[in-house]
Amino acid sequence: MRPLVAGNWKMNGLRAALSEVTTLAQMHPTPSCDVLICPPATLLAPMAEVAAGTSVAVGGQDCHAAASGAHTGDIAAEMIADAGGTAVIVGHSERRADHGEDDATVRAKAEAAIRAGLTAIICVGETEAERDAGRTLDVVLGQLAGSLPEGSLGASVVIAYEPVWAIGTGRVPELSDITEVHDALRADLAKHMPEAEAALVRLLYGGSVKPGNAAEIFGIENVNGGLVGGASLKASDFGQIVAAA
Ligand code: PGA
Repeated sequence: MRPLVAGNWKMNGLRAALSEVTTLAQMHPTPSCDVLICPPATLLAPMAEVAAGTSVAVGGQDCHAAASGAHTGDIAAEMIADAGGTAVIVGHSERRADHGEDDATVRAKAEAAIRAGLTAIICVGETEAERDAGRTLDVVLGQLAGSLPEGSLGASVVIAYEPVWAIGTGRVPELSDITEVHDALRADLAKHMPEAEAALVRLLYGGSVKPGNAAEIFGIENVNGGLVGGASLKASDFGQIVAAA
Protein backbone atom coordinates (compact mmCIF):
# COMPACT_ATOMS: atom_id res chain seq x y z
CA MET A 1 0.00 0.00 0.00
CA ARG A 2 1.36 3.44 -0.90
CA PRO A 3 1.97 5.31 2.38
CA LEU A 4 0.56 8.75 3.15
CA VAL A 5 2.55 11.33 5.04
CA ALA A 6 0.26 14.15 6.10
CA GLY A 7 1.26 17.41 7.78
CA ASN A 8 -1.15 19.11 10.16
CA TRP A 9 -0.14 22.73 10.52
CA LYS A 10 -2.84 23.38 13.14
CA MET A 11 -3.19 27.13 13.88
CA ASN A 12 0.23 27.97 12.44
CA GLY A 13 1.29 29.63 9.23
CA LEU A 14 1.00 32.99 7.49
CA ARG A 15 1.38 33.47 3.75
CA ALA A 16 5.17 33.67 4.06
CA ALA A 17 5.12 29.99 5.06
CA LEU A 18 3.87 28.97 1.59
CA SER A 19 7.51 28.86 0.48
CA GLU A 20 7.90 25.72 2.64
CA VAL A 21 5.61 23.91 0.21
CA THR A 22 7.70 24.96 -2.77
CA THR A 23 10.85 23.79 -0.99
CA LEU A 24 9.24 20.47 -0.02
CA ALA A 25 8.07 19.82 -3.58
CA GLN A 26 11.57 20.57 -4.88
CA MET A 27 13.09 18.19 -2.32
CA HIS A 28 10.68 15.41 -3.31
CA PRO A 29 9.52 15.69 -6.94
CA THR A 30 8.69 11.96 -7.05
CA PRO A 31 8.21 10.74 -3.46
CA SER A 32 7.51 7.09 -2.71
CA CYS A 33 4.48 8.13 -0.64
CA ASP A 34 1.54 10.49 -0.98
CA VAL A 35 2.35 13.85 0.60
CA LEU A 36 -0.36 16.09 2.04
CA ILE A 37 -0.28 19.35 3.97
CA CYS A 38 -3.32 20.57 5.90
CA PRO A 39 -2.79 24.31 6.52
CA PRO A 40 -5.13 26.66 8.36
CA ALA A 41 -8.19 27.53 6.28
CA THR A 42 -6.80 30.94 5.32
CA LEU A 43 -3.95 29.26 3.42
CA LEU A 44 -5.94 26.49 1.71
CA ALA A 45 -6.53 28.21 -1.62
CA PRO A 46 -3.14 29.92 -1.97
CA MET A 47 -1.36 26.72 -0.92
CA ALA A 48 -3.34 24.70 -3.44
CA GLU A 49 -2.16 27.14 -6.11
CA VAL A 50 1.47 26.86 -5.03
CA ALA A 51 1.20 23.07 -4.87
CA ALA A 52 -0.63 22.59 -8.17
CA GLY A 53 1.27 20.26 -10.48
CA THR A 54 3.69 19.21 -7.71
CA SER A 55 3.92 16.08 -5.53
CA VAL A 56 2.24 17.89 -2.63
CA ALA A 57 -1.53 17.75 -2.05
CA VAL A 58 -3.45 20.08 0.22
CA GLY A 59 -6.25 19.42 2.69
CA GLY A 60 -8.38 20.92 5.46
CA GLN A 61 -8.14 20.43 9.22
CA ASP A 62 -11.88 20.21 9.88
CA CYS A 63 -15.20 20.62 8.08
CA HIS A 64 -18.85 21.09 8.96
CA ALA A 65 -21.29 18.26 8.30
CA ALA A 66 -23.57 20.48 6.19
CA ALA A 67 -22.82 21.55 2.63
CA SER A 68 -23.79 25.19 3.28
CA GLY A 69 -25.94 27.26 5.60
CA ALA A 70 -26.10 29.42 8.71
CA HIS A 71 -22.98 28.20 10.52
CA THR A 72 -20.84 31.24 11.26
CA GLY A 73 -17.14 30.48 11.23
CA ASP A 74 -17.49 26.98 9.83
CA ILE A 75 -16.25 25.58 6.52
CA ALA A 76 -18.03 22.97 4.40
CA ALA A 77 -16.21 20.01 2.88
CA GLU A 78 -17.40 21.29 -0.50
CA MET A 79 -15.54 24.56 0.16
CA ILE A 80 -12.33 22.69 0.90
CA ALA A 81 -12.70 20.83 -2.39
CA ASP A 82 -13.52 24.09 -4.19
CA ALA A 83 -10.34 25.66 -2.76
CA GLY A 84 -8.27 22.83 -4.23
CA GLY A 85 -8.15 20.47 -1.25
CA THR A 86 -8.31 16.69 -1.68
CA ALA A 87 -8.61 15.58 1.95
CA VAL A 88 -9.74 16.75 5.37
CA ILE A 89 -8.83 15.76 8.92
CA VAL A 90 -11.87 15.05 11.11
CA GLY A 91 -12.07 14.26 14.80
CA HIS A 92 -8.59 15.43 15.75
CA SER A 93 -8.27 15.18 19.55
CA GLU A 94 -7.86 18.96 19.74
CA ARG A 95 -11.26 19.36 18.03
CA ARG A 96 -12.77 16.65 20.24
CA ALA A 97 -11.42 18.45 23.35
CA ASP A 98 -11.67 22.15 22.39
CA HIS A 99 -15.00 21.93 20.56
CA GLY A 100 -16.69 19.02 22.33
CA GLU A 101 -16.88 16.90 19.18
CA ASP A 102 -18.19 13.41 19.88
CA ASP A 103 -18.05 10.33 17.68
CA ALA A 104 -21.43 11.08 16.06
CA THR A 105 -20.23 14.56 15.07
CA VAL A 106 -17.01 13.15 13.69
CA ARG A 107 -18.91 10.53 11.69
CA ALA A 108 -21.17 13.23 10.20
CA LYS A 109 -18.10 15.24 9.21
CA ALA A 110 -16.45 12.18 7.66
CA GLU A 111 -19.64 11.54 5.68
CA ALA A 112 -19.57 15.16 4.50
CA ALA A 113 -15.97 14.78 3.39
CA ILE A 114 -16.79 11.70 1.30
CA ARG A 115 -19.89 13.42 -0.11
CA ALA A 116 -17.60 16.25 -1.30
CA GLY A 117 -15.13 13.82 -2.87
CA LEU A 118 -12.46 14.34 -0.22
CA THR A 119 -10.46 11.71 1.62
CA ALA A 120 -11.59 11.71 5.27
CA ILE A 121 -8.70 11.36 7.73
CA ILE A 122 -10.47 10.19 10.89
CA CYS A 123 -8.47 10.58 14.12
CA VAL A 124 -8.74 8.29 17.13
CA GLY A 125 -6.58 7.95 20.23
CA GLU A 126 -6.59 7.43 23.97
CA THR A 127 -5.69 9.86 26.74
CA GLU A 128 -2.91 9.07 29.17
CA ALA A 129 -5.43 8.21 31.93
CA GLU A 130 -7.18 5.79 29.57
CA ARG A 131 -3.87 4.13 28.68
CA ASP A 132 -2.87 3.87 32.35
CA ALA A 133 -6.22 2.23 33.06
CA GLY A 134 -5.53 -0.39 30.36
CA ARG A 135 -8.37 0.90 28.19
CA THR A 136 -6.42 1.86 25.04
CA LEU A 137 -7.94 -0.71 22.68
CA ASP A 138 -11.46 -0.23 24.08
CA VAL A 139 -11.25 3.53 23.56
CA VAL A 140 -9.63 3.43 20.12
CA LEU A 141 -11.90 0.72 18.69
CA GLY A 142 -14.91 2.42 20.26
CA GLN A 143 -14.01 5.71 18.56
CA LEU A 144 -13.51 3.84 15.29
CA ALA A 145 -16.93 2.20 15.51
CA GLY A 146 -18.59 5.51 16.38
CA SER A 147 -16.76 7.75 13.92
CA LEU A 148 -16.55 5.60 10.79
CA PRO A 149 -19.27 6.17 8.18
CA GLU A 150 -21.26 3.14 7.07
CA GLY A 151 -20.54 1.40 3.81
CA SER A 152 -17.73 0.29 1.56
CA LEU A 153 -15.26 3.06 2.09
CA GLY A 154 -11.89 1.72 0.97
CA ALA A 155 -9.34 4.40 0.16
CA SER A 156 -11.83 7.23 0.74
CA VAL A 157 -11.07 6.99 4.45
CA VAL A 158 -7.78 7.04 6.33
CA ILE A 159 -7.55 6.32 10.05
CA ALA A 160 -4.99 8.22 12.11
CA TYR A 161 -4.09 6.70 15.48
CA GLU A 162 -2.91 9.56 17.66
CA PRO A 163 -2.43 8.88 21.38
CA VAL A 164 -3.46 12.20 22.95
CA TRP A 165 -0.53 12.09 25.38
CA ALA A 166 1.96 11.77 22.51
CA ILE A 167 0.77 14.86 20.63
CA GLY A 168 3.21 17.74 20.91
CA THR A 169 4.97 16.17 23.88
CA GLY A 170 7.97 14.47 22.32
CA ARG A 171 6.74 11.22 23.87
CA VAL A 172 6.00 8.26 21.60
CA PRO A 173 4.53 4.85 22.52
CA GLU A 174 6.77 1.79 22.40
CA LEU A 175 6.87 0.37 18.87
CA SER A 176 5.18 -2.74 20.27
CA ASP A 177 2.30 -0.59 21.55
CA ILE A 178 1.85 1.10 18.17
CA THR A 179 1.94 -2.34 16.54
CA GLU A 180 -0.76 -3.66 18.90
CA VAL A 181 -3.13 -0.78 18.21
CA HIS A 182 -2.59 -0.78 14.44
CA ASP A 183 -3.04 -4.56 14.22
CA ALA A 184 -6.28 -4.20 16.18
CA LEU A 185 -7.48 -1.36 13.92
CA ARG A 186 -6.68 -3.38 10.79
CA ALA A 187 -8.56 -6.43 12.11
CA ASP A 188 -11.48 -4.35 13.31
CA LEU A 189 -11.95 -2.50 10.01
CA ALA A 190 -12.95 -5.77 8.39
CA LYS A 191 -15.94 -5.88 10.77
CA HIS A 192 -17.16 -2.55 9.45
CA MET A 193 -16.81 -3.08 5.69
CA PRO A 194 -15.99 -5.82 3.17
CA GLU A 195 -12.47 -7.18 3.69
CA ALA A 196 -11.27 -6.05 0.26
CA GLU A 197 -12.31 -2.47 1.09
CA ALA A 198 -10.87 -2.62 4.59
CA ALA A 199 -7.51 -3.62 3.14
CA LEU A 200 -7.38 -0.31 1.22
CA VAL A 201 -7.76 1.88 4.32
CA ARG A 202 -4.48 3.47 5.29
CA LEU A 203 -3.61 3.56 9.00
CA LEU A 204 -1.45 6.52 10.01
CA TYR A 205 0.39 6.96 13.28
CA GLY A 206 0.50 10.49 14.73
CA GLY A 207 2.01 11.99 17.87
CA SER A 208 5.56 13.40 18.04
CA VAL A 209 6.69 11.91 14.72
CA LYS A 210 10.11 13.46 14.00
CA PRO A 211 12.92 12.94 11.48
CA GLY A 212 14.70 10.80 14.09
CA ASN A 213 11.87 8.31 14.76
CA ALA A 214 9.88 8.27 11.50
CA ALA A 215 11.70 5.37 9.84
CA GLU A 216 11.21 2.94 12.73
CA ILE A 217 7.55 3.90 13.13
CA PHE A 218 6.84 3.65 9.38
CA GLY A 219 8.59 0.28 9.39
CA ILE A 220 5.75 -1.28 11.41
CA GLU A 221 3.65 -3.54 9.18
CA ASN A 222 0.25 -1.93 9.68
CA VAL A 223 1.54 1.64 9.82
CA ASN A 224 0.87 3.14 6.39
CA GLY A 225 2.34 6.58 7.01
CA GLY A 226 2.01 9.38 9.53
CA LEU A 227 0.10 12.46 10.62
CA VAL A 228 2.70 15.01 11.63
CA GLY A 229 2.12 18.22 13.56
CA GLY A 230 5.08 20.29 14.72
CA ALA A 231 7.62 18.60 12.44
CA SER A 232 5.53 19.36 9.34
CA LEU A 233 5.97 23.14 9.54
CA LYS A 234 9.47 23.24 8.07
CA ALA A 235 10.30 21.53 4.79
CA SER A 236 13.72 20.62 6.19
CA ASP A 237 12.13 18.40 8.88
CA PHE A 238 9.04 17.28 6.98
CA GLY A 239 11.13 16.39 3.93
CA GLN A 240 13.15 13.98 6.06
CA ILE A 241 9.94 12.37 7.34
CA VAL A 242 8.65 12.03 3.77
CA ALA A 243 11.94 10.36 2.83
CA ALA A 244 11.48 7.86 5.67
CA ALA A 245 8.13 6.59 4.33
P1 PGA B 1 2.71 16.46 16.75
O1 PGA B 1 1.13 16.55 16.39
O2 PGA B 1 3.39 15.80 15.59
O3 PGA B 1 3.13 17.90 16.93
O4 PGA B 1 2.82 15.65 18.00
C1 PGA B 1 0.50 15.51 15.70
C2 PGA B 1 -0.95 15.84 15.49
O5 PGA B 1 -1.60 16.39 16.40
O6 PGA B 1 -1.51 15.54 14.42
